[in-house]
Amino acid sequence: MTETVRVRFAPSPTGYLHIGGARTAIYNWLLAQKEGGKLILRIEDTDAERSTEGSIQGIIDGLKWIGITWDEGPYFQTHFIREHQAAAQKLLDSGAAYKCFCTKEELDLRRKEVKKGETGSKQYDKCRDMSAEDVATQEQEGIPYVIRLKVPRGAGSVVFEDIVYGIIEKKYEDIEDFVIVRSNGQPLYVLSNVVDDIRDRITHVIRGQDGLANTPKQIMLYKALGAPIPKFAHMSLTLDPKKAKISKRRHGELVAVHFYKEHGFLSWAFLNFLVLLGWSTSDSREFFSKEELIEAFSLEGINRANSIFNVQKNDPKFFTDPKALSMNAHYLRKLPVEEIAPRVKSVLEEAGIWNPAFEAEKRGWFLHTVDLIRSRYHVLTDFATLGRAYFSDDYPIDPKPLNKNVLKHEGLKEWFPQAADRLEALTAFTIEETERVIRDMAEELEIKPGIIINGIRTVVTGQAAGPGIFDILTTVGQARVVDRLRKAVRLF
Ligand code: GLU
Repeated sequence: MTETVRVRFAPSPTGYLHIGGARTAIYNWLLAQKEGGKLILRIEDTDAERSTEGSIQGIIDGLKWIGITWDEGPYFQTHFIREHQAAAQKLLDSGAAYKCFCTKEELDLRRKEVKKGETGSKQYDKCRDMSAEDVATQEQEGIPYVIRLKVPRGAGSVVFEDIVYGIIEKKYEDIEDFVIVRSNGQPLYVLSNVVDDIRDRITHVIRGQDGLANTPKQIMLYKALGAPIPKFAHMSLTLDPKKAKISKRRHGELVAVHFYKEHGFLSWAFLNFLVLLGWSTSDSREFFSKEELIEAFSLEGINRANSIFNVQKNDPKFFTDPKALSMNAHYLRKLPVEEIAPRVKSVLEEAGIWNPAFEAEKRGWFLHTVDLIRSRYHVLTDFATLGRAYFSDDYPIDPKPLNKNVLKHEGLKEWFPQAADRLEALTAFTIEETERVIRDMAEELEIKPGIIINGIRTVVTGQAAGPGIFDILTTVGQARVVDRLRKAVRLF
């Protein structure tokens, strides 16, 4: 019988869900989905000083938004401290670990001696080889101790194969007898993490590259505890364009998943973007449906090379990776308009320009409008900013095109009301008819149609770019277009 894949996402709740955490969660989730396995959410909250309730909720909300579902948990590491301590006791009992009574001063001194080569003995030998009687005496005297794992002496090494990084070997002589329980009885993370993974029957540990340093020690713990060793896959780092590791400290909110939710990203588009930060298919595919992604996913596709999150300035208000934006734009255009509509609704509500009629008598109009204007947008919030004039009569006019397309052409002061009259007179306000009216007018006035078309576009939509002008006119509607053109004379 093949064993069921069991993976876990094990965040430490010390802040919001960030891009690195989300990537780890996504790869774990994808493997579970692909293999019909289980994903466990485990909150590693043993660092009491840095863990917060708000952060736990933030992580859960972030995972939910991005569409990650888990099968078990959230479990909390702090609930299992007794189990971690019991494991340490088991290691003491079997002789795999020992109590170390050395003081910091003693250790510092011996560390120096070892460095200078003045002593052949290892740092902790005093306690490692202490007799049971001596241990008992020290304990009776109330001397504090930590618990250390005995690392084998002499030649030899811990060897394992990381699915991403390949064969990794660490010599025993380069691993000191590491602490697994502090003198206050608190188990160390390196132990707790392993005990939890054993209890949760984790088959694959997929985590950030920073976990790699702990892995040899953890493998020794699995062996000492007589537990099967899971497979390991460590993920490469995500760097900024200057090759600095992306971090909350350096990049603030920009690396927070919630930032993307708030800035108008579709969760699937963002997930698709994150997946490709350090994972690829052999044919470098870019866009996936959920089913396609699960089908295509494999841990072997995780790249060893670090990935770049191209944090950069796109416009004064918006900073992010252009690839993330273009990925979002792709899905904004591609998904069925009915799927986009509720997201647009939220954005319009937030902007205070949602009209319940858009869901009732104007639903057809609303869907048509969203469909018409979405092709140029990158984020959902564009509907409320760049697209505001479609949904509200109270909209600003972008000063640049106002100047270039309107104010620079004095003649428009008269042509706008004229166009308004002619358009008002139409009985059929269609693309063909509005086009005929505007072109006839330009011809009669002997002006380039572009002048009047760009002028109208600017005052009717507040923007320089957009769909075809006659699509715009028929979508905004006769009465509103006429009204806007009449009012435009006030702009001069
Ligand atoms: N709690 C660790 C972290 O947030 C995860 C370690 C692991 O996955 O093994 O970095």
